[in-house]
Amino acid sequence: MKKKPQRSCVCCRTTRDKSDLLRVVSLADGSIVYDPTGKVPGRGSYLCKNEECIKTELKKAGRLSKGLRRSISDEEATALAQEMLAAAAKAGS
Ligand SMILES: [Zn+2]
Repeated sequence: MKKKPQRSCVCCRTTRDKSDLLRVVSLADGSIVYDPTGKVPGRGSYLCKNEECIKTELKKAGRLSKGLRRSISDEEATALAQEMLAAAAKAGS
């Protein structure tokens, strides 16, 4: 059986299949984006597809910014939260 890549959520530390997590990437230009494809080059961090993890983490963004090794502004965190909540709702879990 082929093993799927596993990643853990920066918020609750649950390990899941990479495809079951939302990826946030720190780009070379310093911006932070939600990566729905999982293929954007850059340092990535992962969050569960559930409201609790997204909201908890992006309200403080402490662990996320640590994982990405840069600080995240409130504006960036809010924009990310909106995109990721929409993606989580679409995933229906
Ligand atoms: Zn989580």
